[in-house]
This record gives sequence, structure tokens and C-alpha cells, in this order.
Amino acid sequence: MQNLLHNLNPEQLAAVTLPSQSALILAGAGSGKTRVLTTRIAWLIQTGQVSPAGIMAVTFTNKAAKEMLTRLSSMLPINTRGMWIGTFHGLCNRLLRTHYKDAALPQAFQILDSQDQLSLIKRMLKAANVDDEKYPAKNLMYFINNAKDQGLRAHAVEAYDPIERKMVELYELYDQQCQREGVVDFAELLLRSYELLARNGPLRHHYQMRFRHILVDEFQDTNDLQYNLLKLLAGHSEEGGGAIFAVGDDDQSIYAFRGANVGNMQAFERDFRVENLIKLEQNYRSHGHILDSANFLIANNTKRLGKNLRTDAGQGEQVRVYEASSDLEEAQWIIEESKSLMGEGLLRKEIAILYRSNAQSRVIEHALFAAGIPYTVYGGLRYFQRAEVKHAIAYLQLMDNPHNDSAFLRVVNFPTRGIGVRSIEQLQMAADTYGVSLFAAVPYMTGKAGTSLGNFVKLVESARFETQQLALPEMVRVVLERSTLLDFYQKEKEGADRIENLEQMVNAATQFVQEEGFGQGAPAHLGPQALPQAGDAILNQDGIEVFDSDAALPTVMSPLSAFLSHASLEAGDAQAQAGQDAMQLMTVHSAKGLEFDAVFITGLEEGLFPHESSARETEGVDEERRLMYVAITRARRRLYMSFTQQRMLHGQTRFNMKSRFFDELPEESLKWLSPRVQTSWFAGRKSQTAWDDAEFRNGTDNRIAQQISQKSANGNGSGWRVGESVAHAKFGEGVIVNIEGGAGAARAQINFGKAGMKVLDLSVAKLERV
Ligand code: ATP
Ligand code: MG
Repeated sequence: MQNLLHNLNPEQLAAVTLPSQSALILAGAGSGKTRVLTTRIAWLIQTGQVSPAGIMAVTFTNKAAKEMLTRLSSMLPINTRGMWIGTFHGLCNRLLRTHYKDAALPQAFQILDSQDQLSLIKRMLKAANVDDEKYPAKNLMYFINNAKDQGLRAHAVEAYDPIERKMVELYELYDQQCQREGVVDFAELLLRSYELLARNGPLRHHYQMRFRHILVDEFQDTNDLQYNLLKLLAGHSEEGGGAIFAVGDDDQSIYAFRGANVGNMQAFERDFRVENLIKLEQNYRSHGHILDSANFLIANNTKRLGKNLRTDAGQGEQVRVYEASSDLEEAQWIIEESKSLMGEGLLRKEIAILYRSNAQSRVIEHALFAAGIPYTVYGGLRYFQRAEVKHAIAYLQLMDNPHNDSAFLRVVNFPTRGIGVRSIEQLQMAADTYGVSLFAAVPYMTGKAGTSLGNFVKLVESARFETQQLALPEMVRVVLERSTLLDFYQKEKEGADRIENLEQMVNAATQFVQEEGFGQGAPAHLGPQALPQAGDAILNQDGIEVFDSDAALPTVMSPLSAFLSHASLEAGDAQAQAGQDAMQLMTVHSAKGLEFDAVFITGLEEGLFPHESSARETEGVDEERRLMYVAITRARRRLYMSFTQQRMLHGQTRFNMKSRFFDELPEESLKWLSPRVQTSWFAGRKSQTAWDDAEFRNGTDNRIAQQISQKSANGNGSGWRVGESVAHAKFGEGVIVNIEGGAGAARAQINFGKAGMKVLDLSVAKLERV
């Protein structure tokens, strides 16, 4: 049997071998918390203090649980299968499966993911004739989950006004509906487990006696219900309950928005009369410059429990900082750097690309795909697989080929337009009878169903007709609007991310058209500019002319068809096969607990990271800073940070200043890869960068002056001038700072001050001179 303890420093050793009392290990990133927790499990078992069945360990992700089990089986000659190691949700599921009768659940109860949950709520609201304008399903879902996370059933929620009373009523109804269908949502898994143990004395006692040791990783991100559940499981020492060994880092508390309560750390110390509080300050993960950056940054937060990190690893390389001109260029730079890292022998899976917001991944994914580099996206679907994107794609597919039945079914009643399951069944029968597609069977339908289905067909036809002369990106934009997908998600409380993804589709189309060389303004439906060259033109078996040089470009496709095939290929092919060495893409949130040789932190721009939503919340920027601390501390040897002068997000070009976090990093640890040129010259706010304010203002004025004189001299045929003041119904007053494109197709960049910088199509946007 190997010596488990020889690879530990004195503090770690002390933590691993603490007596069987509750303890808190408070320590910074990479100091070995997870290692200590795993080693303690092994040590407790090896020394005979507890059997594997007497252990319960809570991890933050399923992946972390798997890793812990693997490590344990390499340390000990035991079968780890069946050990209670997993996430709160996983362990609660197990508890409820075991005691389904006591928990009043059917044996085969099913778990609803949040999408299923939402659709159930929608169905329920509809059946109950509830005005979903007044009580949007998303709000209700949020209300219910929030109550459950606090351990509250409907009857226990205090309602202060009629709206809230109705919400409570609907919560009750929702629970009944779930019960009838035999389904539980995520929050219910925890609440039901809590109630089971709270009400059932013998069962509670059984588990309290069984789990002598409860170990919790990432304790700073537990919510109140989880904490109460732990309290129940551990019991009071008088009852002879087990000991809780909690490890955490208050500086890495990043889930407050989901109800996590970092205060649980102090509550734990108090409630469990924790005498053993151990701090670990030696970091084993990162080189010096990386660690210095993390320490400097987090020192800007107040209300910390206080601890620091040091390393023996030496300073290592400086953090490389790159300023890109655009998000496309940023992605390109990442590709180049990654290639050189791989050239140095780094495995792809040792390279992580982190971003603050999921919508950033598309451009990076695209660049990786184009470069033929395998990658995996964590904690989120790949761009073209996301539901809202698939919906938009389905509309485009129908316009390209209305007989695509699965596209039809996906969107015929999405967003809802009163086409029920019955109507679809009848339509299906008609299609079968006449042997045609669903779309083609619509004229056979009569009555109300016939009318609604007919309207859907009209919608598709007219969208097709209207967009016939448009270039692909414009076409996508029109379809997003005509399909009412944008409206639909705009009404959702948490639809912002989806809208962002949908609007990214316009960018995707723009980029696609440019890269594939489809001429600007080429109608998306019709044949493209690139007609077959003499000698290349051949006929396929249907007699249609195809362009076949090496079969790489199999047909002369319209930009739309080409884009659709690109979407499905990109969605299917580049996905890394299981076990394949692939680069790792993920949000900073989902990088928690992980480590990589090389890490890219991208999009370090004001408004993006720190995220603009943080400005609205108390201590929002502190939480963003913790998030940045998590990001930095993922890196072992090499860390890159990048920001861009302009970025397409939310369907608009944004010009941001570099993140304030750069000012909070030690200058000597940074290596600027790009010349330190002025960025966001128009950002209508005080400079928060290291740049001299005066220089900033001068630069701004000069650049504006230069642009104005250039543009006014050139003239652009749009009828508008750079420098002109305008008013827009939604964005207010602004100044035109740039105009691209010629007459008829001109787009203006307008600085609307408070509303920010917008790019508007001058032929569409309703602007007034002021
Ligand atoms: P995080 O806060 O990011 O979750 P952590 O505190 O859980 O970090 P670990 O992941 O346990 O840290 O450890 C970080 C790295 O340091 C791991 O690669 C681990 O194997 C290594 N490590 C930890 N302790 C030691 C040690 N005493 N000697 C050598 N390596 C160690
Ligand atoms: Mg850890």
C-alpha cells in the first residue's frame, strides 16, 4: 500500500489527518484543497476509521466526481463503485431513487431539465387559462426555483400583493402537475431530499449514523438549501452525527446569482463550532507571474476572509497581453498562438480558451473549425446546436426547401401560433394519404386548423418572397424578425442570451459570405456569382450544372443553401470525439476547479468582463473580480489575456475600453504583445485605463477630427455626413462617427452616448437630423 501522505506539505498533512470533527479548510486557488479532500478520504479508509460506505463527498460537477473516484481507485485497492461521491443533485437523486416511496414519488420519476421545466410551465399556464403576458412562464419558473432553493413550498411563501399571491397559487399548481406527471425539476431534487430527511426520523438517523464523514468541495458556492441539507445529514453532535470537512475559497465564490451564499462559510464555523480552521497558502499550480497577477487583482476586493498565495515554482513567463483590432482578429491570434504552443509539444487538451459570455464562443469556434483544430465546448451547446439557433435555422431551411418535415415540425408552432397537437396529427394523416410533405399537405386541411396552418405556410412563403433579392445576412435578419423569434425571446426574462445568440447569426452569415466569396449583395436564394469556369462545368445526374473541381465544392449552391450546409457540418463534424485530444472552450464559470498548462482569457473589455450587468448589482464588480481571479488561477505555465477594439455582439459592433482589471495587475508581470495603441476613442466615459487621460482625450479629438474631414471630403452618397447630429426613436440623440458602404447600402456607426455605439442601416433606420 502506498504512502498517501508523503506528497503533502505540513499544512496539507495537518488537514488530511485532522481528527473526526468538523473542519474548514480555507485556501486560495491551486493550493491543493481538492487534493487534500481526496487524500483525506483515502486516508480515512486506509487507516480503518471508516468504510467506503461511510463516506459522502460532494463535488461541484459530475466530471469532478468522476475524477475523484478515479484518483481514489488509484490510491486504494478498493472498488469505488457505489461510493456516495457526486454533486448535490446527483446524490439527492440517488437518495430519492432509494426511498422513492417515502418521498412519495413513482419509482420511475423523471428529472426535468430547465427547458423541460419551462415547457411544462407553459403547458400548465395554458391549460389553466392564465394570461401569460401577466404571468410569463419564465418569471414563474424563476419564482418557483428561487422559493425551492430557499427550502420553501408554496404554502410557506409569503405573498404581499395579488400578483405574488397568484404566483404562489401557480407554484402550488405546478407542483401538483409535476406530481401527476411523475417528474421533478433540479431544485425539487434537493428540496424533496431535505423534506424526506426532515420528516422521516428513522431514515434521517440511519443516514446520520451511516455517513460518518461528509466532505464538501467548493463549499463557498453552496446555497442555503444545500447547507441545510448538510446540517440535517450531519446531525448534531449530541445525536452522534458525522463530521463535515468543508474546503473552499471565498475569493472563488462566483454563483451568487444562483443563490449561492458565501456566508455559509462563517455560518458553518459557528453552527458546527469549528475548531479546526486550516489555511493553505502554498500554491502548486501556477508560476510566479501568474500568481502575482491573481494576488494583485483580488487584493482590490474588500470583505475577504484573508489569505495569500505563494509559489516555489519561480516567476516563469510573464502574462502575455494582446490587443486585437476585432473579435475576428482575436480569434485568429488565438489560433496562431495555439499552433505555436502545440509546436512546443503541448497537448491540445492542455490549452483552454475562456470567455465571460457564451455568445463569444462562436467566432472562436469558427476560427478553430476553419483551422481544422479539434475542440470541445464545455457547459454549453456548440453554437449551431443551440435551440434558438436551430429554430432560426429551421425557418431558413423551410425557405430553402419547404419539404423538410423536421424543420417544419420544429417551428410550425414555435413561437406558438395556436397550432395544436391534434392539428399536426391530422396534417400528418393528410400527408400520409397524399404522399406529400407536411408543408404540401396543408392545403388539404380545413377548418380552424386549416387556417392556422395556412397562415404558417403564408409566413414561410412571404418571407421567402420578401428576401429573394437580399444578401444572406440581411435575409437572416429579416427571418429572425418575421419568424417572431426575436420578439418571443425578448419577452422572456432570461432570453437575453438567446437573443444574443440569434443576433450572432447575422454576424455568422456576414462572415460566411465574406469568406466564401459570395459577392456583396448577391441574392441569397439565387445562383451565386461564381459560375462554373469553362471546363469545370459538369452535369449531375439530374442534369443540373455542378461545379466540380475535386468534388470539394460539389454544387453551385445559393448562398443560403451553402450556409445551411455549413451550419450542419460545423455542428456535427468538428465536435471532438470522446477521448480525442481537443482544445477546451468554456465560460469562466465552468472552468472552476480545473487547470491547464496554457489559458487564454478573452474579451477583457469593459462591459463584457466585467460584465455590464454587474454594474446593476451590489458588489457586482467584486463578483466579476472573483471570476477573473478564477480565470487567472486556471493556468499553470502560460497565461494569455486579450481584448479587442471592436467586437460584434448582440448583432451590433461594440467598441469597448479594455477591462479595468488590467489596471489591477502588476505591470512587471505583463508582457504587451501588441503596441499600446489607443482603443475606444469615443467611449463616452472617463478612461479607466493606464493610459494618460489627457492623451486619451487628445487622441479622441484627433481621430474624430480626422475621420470627419476624410468623410466629408469623400462624400458617400448616403445623404448623411460623418459628424452630423441625429436622433433615433429608441436610442436618443447621437453623432454619426463613421459611414460604410455606398448609396442604398450605407451603414452608419452612431455614438448615442448613453445608449452606446450602434451600427444602423441607413436605408432602414429612421433617423432625424437635429
Ligand atoms: P482550486 O481552488 O482551483 O479548486 P485547489 O485548491 O483545489 O484549486 P488542487 O486542484 O487540489 O487545488 O491542486 C492544484 C494542483 O497542485 C494540482 O495539480 C495538484 O495535484 C497540485 N498539488 C497540490 N498539492 C501538492 C503538493 N503538496 N505537491 C505537489 N503538487 C501538489
Ligand atoms: Mg479544487
